Amino acid sequence: MTTASPHPDPETTGTSEVPEAPATIEMPRESLLPSILDVNEDDLNFVVLQLGQPPFRARQLWRSLYHDGARSFDEMTTLAKPFRAALEERYRVSPITPEIELRSADGSTDKVLFKLQDGELIETVLMRYGLDGHRRARRTVCISTQAGCALGCKFCATGQQGFRRQLSPGEIVAQVLHMRGVIRGENAALVASGEAKKDEVTEITNVVFMGMGEPLANYNNTMQSIAVMNHGQGMNIGARHLTVSTVGLVPEIRKLAREPYQLNLAVSLHAPDDESRSRTMPVNKRYPIARLMHACRDYVETTNRRIFFEYVLLDRENDTPEHAKKLTVLLKGLMCHVNLIPVNPTENGPYARPNDKRSALFREILTKAGIPNTVRQEKGIDINAGCGQLRARALDDAVEPAE
Ligand code: SF4
Repeated sequence: MTTASPHPDPETTGTSEVPEAPATIEMPRESLLPSILDVNEDDLNFVVLQLGQPPFRARQLWRSLYHDGARSFDEMTTLAKPFRAALEERYRVSPITPEIELRSADGSTDKVLFKLQDGELIETVLMRYGLDGHRRARRTVCISTQAGCALGCKFCATGQQGFRRQLSPGEIVAQVLHMRGVIRGENAALVASGEAKKDEVTEITNVVFMGMGEPLANYNNTMQSIAVMNHGQGMNIGARHLTVSTVGLVPEIRKLAREPYQLNLAVSLHAPDDESRSRTMPVNKRYPIARLMHACRDYVETTNRRIFFEYVLLDRENDTPEHAKKLTVLLKGLMCHVNLIPVNPTENGPYARPNDKRSALFREILTKAGIPNTVRQEKGIDINAGCGQLRARALDDAVEPAE
């Protein structure tokens, strides 16, 4: 799923366009070293032993990386200097480097374009939410799991650019670590200035796998990154605050149902029948709606967790009362929540935004049929540059439990 193409939307960010990636990418020496974030917990123990250190050093190293968020081995002052030097010779810390960092005019949203060690570009979004009625303040990161995407959804800029490669677990986790660093810096400034007390500031609360790529098409690396984010001695982000999205890869949805994590699952539906869905989402030919819904029903039964369905409203394409009625039939009796997202079209984009009346009528049909739903109205986010972010924001609102 995509937050966006790797080219952030100036309308959303209130900033200038992202320039093209340089044709030739110079690789500094340290970038040739593997990232320690790509060493899993078991292998980290092995690395530590190989370097002649006692086993407890592995726990210290893990804590430095994922709890403290050290950006260099030098910062890991709990480790002896020679050990740090030995690590530095063999590894770099982060496998991603921020190329361009943009902030929206209202300060609520950051987009970062990261360069990977081989020059590929990915995008990550940070969204800040203040106290909002019954909802606590939140800091949500929307992360990418692939460079590019093979699934070719018609409304998605990333999908039109094709697949480049899978992201490694370290590349996925590093996006959250970077954004957590940004938030920690802001929080430290608030505390230092007396504007907030230490226990009043908000760290990263939620992670949504809705950036570039289809997370379930990079299944193992996605699950490994979840294990790291969820680890109690490190990042310690509760599984209920992690949302994995999919366009509907049936075998992987079934696999996910058997995982030990209480994750949120978001399915991009966007149409209630095969004819309409296949027009915008080629994946529907491989996994038609009947198969997808069968897997979704099994998922809910196995996990006892509701599914979030995303539905981008495209004027006259999928937003008629007939579409709404078909959707109610499709979702009848299923524990779920529908996020309706009226598209904000680009100037030359193929899809127009339905007017408020049409969106309201669509919603009314769902509500009358007892299907829980939310409508999000977003300004300045076009579907090409922001479909993932729209979905992220809508889901984040919907999945956050009331307090
Ligand atoms: S799955 Fe579809 S929406 Fe998501 S990144 Fe790929 S092409 Fe875009």
